Amino acid sequence: MNLSIRKAAVIGSGIMGSQIAAHLAGVGIKTLLLDIVPKTLTEEEAGRGLTLADPAVRNRLAASAIKRLTKIKPAPLYDEAFAERITPGNLEDHLASLGEVDWVIEVVVENLEVKKNLLKQIEQHRKPGTIVSSNTSGISINAMAADCGEEFKKHFLGTHFFNPPRYMKLLEIIPGEKTDSELVRAMKAFCEKVLGKGVVLAKDTPNFIANRIGTYGLLVTLQEMQKNGGYTVEEVDAVTGPAMGRPKSATFRTLDLVGLDTFVHVADNVFQNVTDEQEKAVFDTPDVLKKMTELKWLGEKTGRGFYLKQ
Ligand code: NAD
Repeated sequence: MNLSIRKAAVIGSGIMGSQIAAHLAGVGIKTLLLDIVPKTLTEEEAGRGLTLADPAVRNRLAASAIKRLTKIKPAPLYDEAFAERITPGNLEDHLASLGEVDWVIEVVVENLEVKKNLLKQIEQHRKPGTIVSSNTSGISINAMAADCGEEFKKHFLGTHFFNPPRYMKLLEIIPGEKTDSELVRAMKAFCEKVLGKGVVLAKDTPNFIANRIGTYGLLVTLQEMQKNGGYTVEEVDAVTGPAMGRPKSATFRTLDLVGLDTFVHVADNVFQNVTDEQEKAVFDTPDVLKKMTELKWLGEKTGRGFYLKQ
């Protein structure tokens, strides 16, 4: 089986969805980028006399995500002109369009119930044979599709991109127990050849491979910093970033880039799904992260995390 993917829909236009859409646009795939309908007007919209029914408001989240893409450095778009290949919208008004694409990628918040409901919606509107994948950081692929039918499950799998998707070569592909093995092989080839990724096939275990190891490392680092008293965020970053030849991947800078809310969901996913006491103790969300997420110090997306956004 050789895949020909010309049109895609990315659902969720946050940090990852917008950048995945940019990557697809960069390789010539026409991409719909869809998000939810805003429930309130911004001051600027109210000032212009717009209402919640105006398309400019209804499509605002995805449209502003595309504008944001041109401001992020390093730029997620290969060329600003490629933004024309991305059509922003809201899911509610574009459900029928899901029947016109070859690949739907779910990139919404890391929450099992939200993802399950969304997959049911996608199932109702996709055409048979359409590939559907999730960018989840570690929620079970089988659990997510549990309420969907057999034909859907055959075409559903995890495609886990890493942040920032244009530059991170790794892509984990996670087959569900019902995913067509021929499709897995074809997706692997497509993601390698067309998207330029280095694909690793992972099992459907909590947080798959990279995030199981990555979250573990970060949580143990936090515990050690507290236990041994006195290591600062800057000191840890100095050691784990530039000094190790990894200028962009210092521990806490990465956490700010990922988003603390997403990180907490990802760590909690292992906590909820393992029974080993030692492992549970590591993956129990530390108070400092609970407090920071309560305060909305979520990292770059809210302007403040371990660092202030410059
Ligand atoms: P985010 O919070 O930046 O964006 C999520 C977006 O989904 C928001 O714009 C929100 O409005 C939208 N959304 C929520 N429910 C929706 C629905 N029902 N329909 C349509 N849109 C909806 O999150 P993110 O960091 O982009 O993460 C998205 C997914 O990617 C998560 O599963 C996360 O675990 C995974 N992921 C994140 C990273 C990272 O570094 N942030 C890396 C790899 C994977």
